[in-house]
Amino acid sequence: MLRWSIATVCMGGTLEVKLAAAARAGFRTIEIFENDLTFFSGKPREIRSMAQDLGIEIVALQPMRDFEGMPEPMRARNFDRAKRKFDLMEELGTKLLCICSNVSEDALGDPERSAADLAELADLAALRGFRIGFEALAWGRHVHDWMQAWDLVRRADRPNLGVVLDSFHAFARKNPIAPMAEIPGDKIALVQVADAPGILMDHMSLSRHHRCFPGQGDWPIADFLETAIGTGYNGAISLEIFNDQFRGAPPPAIARDGMRALEVCGETLNLRRAAAGAAPLAISRPLPAAAKVTGVEFIEFVTSAAHSPRLVTELEGLGFRRVARHRSKDVDLFRQNDVNIVVNREQDGFAHSFYLVHGTSVCALALRLDDPARAIERANALGAPTYFGRIGPGEASIPAVAGVENSLLYFMKDSAVSSWEQDFLFIDSPAHAGPLNRVDHLNNMVRRSELLSWVTFYKAVLGFTEEPQVELADPYGAFFSRVVRASDGSVRIPLNIADGGSTSVSRFLENFGGGGVQQIALSTDDLFAFVEQARARGVQFLDIPDNYYEDLSARYDLEPALIEKMRELDILYDRHKGGEFFHIYTRMFDQRFFFEILQRRNYDLFGAANTPVRLAAQAAEDDEARRERAMLD
Ligand code: MG
Repeated sequence: MLRWSIATVCMGGTLEVKLAAAARAGFRTIEIFENDLTFFSGKPREIRSMAQDLGIEIVALQPMRDFEGMPEPMRARNFDRAKRKFDLMEELGTKLLCICSNVSEDALGDPERSAADLAELADLAALRGFRIGFEALAWGRHVHDWMQAWDLVRRADRPNLGVVLDSFHAFARKNPIAPMAEIPGDKIALVQVADAPGILMDHMSLSRHHRCFPGQGDWPIADFLETAIGTGYNGAISLEIFNDQFRGAPPPAIARDGMRALEVCGETLNLRRAAAGAAPLAISRPLPAAAKVTGVEFIEFVTSAAHSPRLVTELEGLGFRRVARHRSKDVDLFRQNDVNIVVNREQDGFAHSFYLVHGTSVCALALRLDDPARAIERANALGAPTYFGRIGPGEASIPAVAGVENSLLYFMKDSAVSSWEQDFLFIDSPAHAGPLNRVDHLNNMVRRSELLSWVTFYKAVLGFTEEPQVELADPYGAFFSRVVRASDGSVRIPLNIADGGSTSVSRFLENFGGGGVQQIALSTDDLFAFVEQARARGVQFLDIPDNYYEDLSARYDLEPALIEKMRELDILYDRHKGGEFFHIYTRMFDQRFFFEILQRRNYDLFGAANTPVRLAAQAAEDDEARRERAMLD
């Protein structure tokens, strides 16, 4: 039977924790990586009963290394080693031993001899009712492509010997996938899946540190699975990810992400099958289709009575007006055209807890969707449970799921104008015009170990797509940004990470106490007019050094008067394929968040060329704030 599986090597922690995490995520099959047994204090048969109690089958023990094609006396020693592995398999109650291709310098390159070794091993295994799987490692000494592994399996010709197909090695070596269709399904011992970023690196380093779940990298994993399953293969499809970040993350989160990634693969395969008139694969549960995300309905800030006036001054400076008050809570609605900002000063409940941990910050985001109920069903099916908040009598219940750092992500019907009236009492005209039109994008700072998890969340749960990763210079290191976006581009979320140090991301994680929204980008049709009005209302913008404008005049044929105006107002500029981009940043609020106001003219990027300038200016501002704090202390 086709079934999803996960190798214990994907997760950190002890074997007991890994088994429990896999079971909780819905896996009923696992592969045991032998190193995990080495660190296990109990007997292997205890693992067997633990797995049985959790309803988990141990599909394979792996790996046995450097086996085929060895000269004597190493060859004889290998057969002794294999017998000990068989004893271990007996105790674990597993039937399949996976051998990966020999990397030893002593290995002989004779295919006949290697095939004969595999045949002899398979015969020994058969006496005990076991099977052998043979896998090509991309860095194998003589066997490094799946076609070579399959060739040895075919030469050995034993009924209990099959090839292990691992997407990582196949894609790393740029092996063709289509010819896999010619392998009889019963000659495939195991199918392993791993994705990876499309970066140039030696195969072993890429494998050991950058493997990731399907959909987190750049390889066509669904094509690989479609071909493997097309052979009639009917066994486990197992995630095998070596990744330091995964091992550093909580095992339940990793197992959940793995299942999410596999279920979405299964959904893709079943959509293709439906289009071709084929029956769906039973391996995947039918998922409600992702709802269409059409925008940001509101951004919710939490603050306290003491800090609220500063936040309100900032919002009013940007042209927002308080238009409504919540009927039962200390919550106000600020509005400007299509941008709704909710300010929550409640003294208990979710938002207040968030405030106690993170201070004045964005605690929730509401997305507009065509079908929120279906979105919640899909989220639940993919392991994101519904959050139920406290509501007053007669108030709208808005479904939500947990977002970054346990902020909330609300799902709202995209035409639900009336739900505001249900919960809010309007004190001003509901429509308030102003220079800012809509939410352009929101940056999420995330811990490095959580980046891929959020990529999978947005893609799998919300049907977002992804733009290629961008690497940017920070005055204190480097940071990396991956943008996830709604299919129509109405919501765009750059996910930013850094490698420790004093980078902007690191300082944010430290100041904020975890990941969260750092940047709220709002669009306008006339940035210059907006900045002049906002300055007059007292809004302070980030100081941009004069050198930036010298550089700008050298790079672009801009009117000197325009550059002068930008210098005066601290406006930044970028250009791409004939499109133009003007933007400006407010000063950081409590070292946590800031607004970017931008004007796009046929420009679809994020002004990444200016990010180092912003980061340097913010670092200078941050240093100043720290000095001031130190003086006060
Ligand atoms: Mg493998």
